[in-house]
Amino acid sequence: MARPEILFPLFADLTTLPGVGGKTALALGRLGLEKVGDLLFLLPHGVVDRRLRDDLLMVDAGEIITCRVQAIEHRRGRTDRQPYRVIVEGGGRPFELVFFHAKRDWIERLLPIGAVRVISGKAEIFDGRLQVPHPDFVLTEAEAGALPSFEPVYPLTQGVSQKLMQKAVNGALSARPALPEWQRADTLREFVWPSLGDALEAMHDPKDRSVLAPGAPARSRLAYDELLSHQLALGLVRSKMRRGAGRRTKGTGVLAASAQAAFGFRPTEAQRRALEEIAADMAAETRMLRLLQGDVGSGKTWVAMMAMLAAVEAGGQAALMAPTEILARQHAEGLGGIAAEIGVSLEILTGRDTGSERRRKLAAIADGSAQLVLGTHSLFQKDVEFSDLRLAVIDEQHRFGVRQRMELAAKAPSGADLLVMTATPIPRTLALTGYGDLDFSILDEKPPGRKPIETRLVSRERYDEVVARLASAMNDGVRAYWVCPMVEESETALKIAAEDRHRALAERLGPDRVTLVHGQMPSEEKDRAMSAFQSGVVQLLVATTVIEVGVDVPEATIMVIEQAESFGLSQLHQLRGRVGRGEGKSSCLLLYDPPLSETGKARLEVMRATEDGFKIAEEDLRIRGPGDFIGTAQSGAPAFKIADLDRDRALMERARTETRLILHEDPDLSSERGKALKILLYLMGRDASVRLISAA
Ligand code: ADP
Ligand code: MG
Repeated sequence: MARPEILFPLFADLTTLPGVGGKTALALGRLGLEKVGDLLFLLPHGVVDRRLRDDLLMVDAGEIITCRVQAIEHRRGRTDRQPYRVIVEGGGRPFELVFFHAKRDWIERLLPIGAVRVISGKAEIFDGRLQVPHPDFVLTEAEAGALPSFEPVYPLTQGVSQKLMQKAVNGALSARPALPEWQRADTLREFVWPSLGDALEAMHDPKDRSVLAPGAPARSRLAYDELLSHQLALGLVRSKMRRGAGRRTKGTGVLAASAQAAFGFRPTEAQRRALEEIAADMAAETRMLRLLQGDVGSGKTWVAMMAMLAAVEAGGQAALMAPTEILARQHAEGLGGIAAEIGVSLEILTGRDTGSERRRKLAAIADGSAQLVLGTHSLFQKDVEFSDLRLAVIDEQHRFGVRQRMELAAKAPSGADLLVMTATPIPRTLALTGYGDLDFSILDEKPPGRKPIETRLVSRERYDEVVARLASAMNDGVRAYWVCPMVEESETALKIAAEDRHRALAERLGPDRVTLVHGQMPSEEKDRAMSAFQSGVVQLLVATTVIEVGVDVPEATIMVIEQAESFGLSQLHQLRGRVGRGEGKSSCLLLYDPPLSETGKARLEVMRATEDGFKIAEEDLRIRGPGDFIGTAQSGAPAFKIADLDRDRALMERARTETRLILHEDPDLSSERGKALKILLYLMGRDASVRLISAA
């Protein structure tokens, strides 16, 4: 289905608006405004009160004043540099209108002595005198009748004045077609929300200053339109991915039972529950799209393995994709042992495999002799064909974008079930925005016996002391991580910082006890460093954030993080999660460069106060705002024009529930309301999702 004709005026070029030429259109583009309709959803950031005042006896500098005046005297500046001043009387007092670089005859025509004018502008106090420099308006009484009492204030950019913007928005308002209502009548009644048209009018032609207040009906309605379109788009993707994928995968439990013995621990209640939810999804006819969320160390790998074995028991294959090579290898090692023990074949495919080795692996994957396949992104590549992929697991999803998730899902043509795992606790609000297309399972319990990690904040001024303590701990056989700062964005800068730190620490602690791993190292070297650390041959691993996710060396008990203030809180939490996994008592030292800012201090204090990843994520979101949370692109958190993720949480929840209801009742959006909702989707630029339903 193509874009409905009724919306054409809103998708017209900005230059079709009165007063907008090519240059202005370009300037507006810098504000993300490209089509006429974009102006409709441009949220003003303020409202100016231009009501006429009779009394100017109490005016503060900065106030906008609007008043009827009479010019009593023109005073030209003595030089060109000095302003031209017009003394007027109005509001019960004399005051001055001030003009710089203005033509004399223009001003004389504008404000003839004795004539009544309505002026409006920002008041200033200069030398104790009330002045209005360059009033926004100087109008005759007849003209002033058309001056709105309240005026929206828009964000601007160079080359676009407030007046021009207002004119453009007004043009967009009059170009607006009448659209059918897509919100339910009882929703509108419940919240006392206006129609779309009335909401837009209220926002752009406000009748008072409260239109922009958080709960104001017009703003809320527009925010809800936006949130609903977003949820609906995700919902459509979801139902498209599920539809026609009818594949029942039910394990026999035979392999799972022997694997359980090989694991050697009892699963937690939470692990068992998550596995049950997953097994039920896999056994059902629709395709599974499930997010398994569990804090660092909560045991997601066990859940993944058990689910994968169900796929194998049912005669199919399962794949596990990890974000880094280190993590893929670690899974291959851990799960490889178990697979071997229970007689299941496992292959690992990464970017490192080339030539005949790669061909051999691809053949094993294609003919089904590889039952479990682990790997990195390389599992996406076109030449990877599975014989019967029934389950795809994506580990540590926050490292992957929404797009890659779709790609992996699309990779499984027979409609493999999809399990996405993440250790980054996603606050509920964000979860709803970026992941609204998934079901959730949560591991809210950690395996027994975990000891609390002692976290301390230490100034870098105490570096020598820290290294001395580390030396003595290492003499007692302790293993430790040292994470280098994040300050530089470039991989090369990170690498150099890590190499320098490695050199310094190796010199101090003994070269054969310290090793290094960073993202730019050749894979073989990375492996060598990791396995030397894993086996205890070296005791200190100097690293960049490549060790952030998943790395599991239970014997390591000390984590030092340099310039901790440069990391995101959730990232610190992930890094800290590398310790506290074994028998020994663990500690985490957050080194910071003094002086710390107030926020910097508050953030690191959060780390000290709690080990609960959810709390940390919520705090991080609160302190930094959603944009920064895990990187907008990575988290898939969208930027909304009107809605505010923090303030409009409740509306987001509602949009999600409503979406489920809509898609349940009218999956193709073919009812009267469904058609209106399609218009909403197009209006909000979600064309791609509408195409999904028409293609189905
Ligand atoms: P994550 O959720 O961070 O991926 P892992 O799956 O790597 O966690 O598990 C962390 C550690 O806990 C591993 O060493 C794993 O063997 C161990 N583990 C997992 N589940 C249990 C359990 N139920 N009881 C004891 N240890 C467990
Ligand atoms: Mg893991």
